[in-house]
Amino acid sequence: MTVGTMKKLLCGVDLGGTKLSAGLFSRDGRQIDRLEINDHVDKDNDGVTEAIIGLVKGIQSKNKIQDSDLLGIGICMAAHIRFDEGLVIKTSNFKIPFKNYPMRAKVQAHFDVPVILDNDANAQAYGEFIFGAGRGRKNVVFMTVSSGIGSGIIIDEKLLRGVTGTAGEIGHTITQSESDQRCTCGNRGCLMAQASGIFFPSLFQKKLDEGKSSVINVDDVSTINGKTIAEGFRRGDEICTEIFYESARMIGIGVYNIFQLLNPEAVIIGGGLINLGEKYIEEVRRTFRSYARDMMVDPMEILLAELKGDSGLIGAATLILERR
Ligand SMILES: [Zn+2]
Repeated sequence: MTVGTMKKLLCGVDLGGTKLSAGLFSRDGRQIDRLEINDHVDKDNDGVTEAIIGLVKGIQSKNKIQDSDLLGIGICMAAHIRFDEGLVIKTSNFKIPFKNYPMRAKVQAHFDVPVILDNDANAQAYGEFIFGAGRGRKNVVFMTVSSGIGSGIIIDEKLLRGVTGTAGEIGHTITQSESDQRCTCGNRGCLMAQASGIFFPSLFQKKLDEGKSSVINVDDVSTINGKTIAEGFRRGDEICTEIFYESARMIGIGVYNIFQLLNPEAVIIGGGLINLGEKYIEEVRRTFRSYARDMMVDPMEILLAELKGDSGLIGAATLILERR
């Protein structure tokens, strides 16, 4: 079939450590089809790349579409990406890590439409900007809060990537340098180390060591996650309630720092921890307002992400729209 530019489809690929998915979307964000595999996990870098190519070709042939029916292919993954060159600088969630790997060029060689490669936070940010909570705005910051913390920054309707492409790593901004919480990056007091799910076990253990009590069964502290904290909070558990509010306040401080640095119209919060509920996000807002006070001239909203589940996939597809 031959179609005009406005009728062309967007193709998104979300490459994760455990699952690899590809999706076809219309220009208005409607999902037309989706394929997913997870046998890529044991493959080497070229093998993973071939799996991506195969999955996109698979979804094309299943839907009887040619390259010319696509506006482009957007790929996102949890990695540091050198955006201009399309290089995967490094990864931490693959059995065989990527290191300065030219993924975009390798995929591009198999398709006659533009291929874009970016990190998952940027893709989700752009997805929210085009089809989610950021619709109709020009300046928004998306912050993902789950096991880790990342962000994607949109200024004047474009992603702000920085010289390398790694801008937005808000999880590693330092909010408490005296903290004894050491981050995965090796520094102390990163926002991530004080507010994200991966650190809930050590926060929990620290409070037990301080003699605080918990009604949660703590045979194995390493299994404590956002769900445990939410459940404990509902039951009025002392330690879970403290972690719940400490995490929310730290995110509120992170949002405040974003406000001072970038003055966006809205900060959109997504990621697994937003499932901690309305009280969590309310504490984020309360903390933000307590710092921003009358320095906030025009209102800045703190919104919940609207794209659920496949936010990486649709986000990757929307990256195509940014380049045009
Ligand atoms: Zn860090």
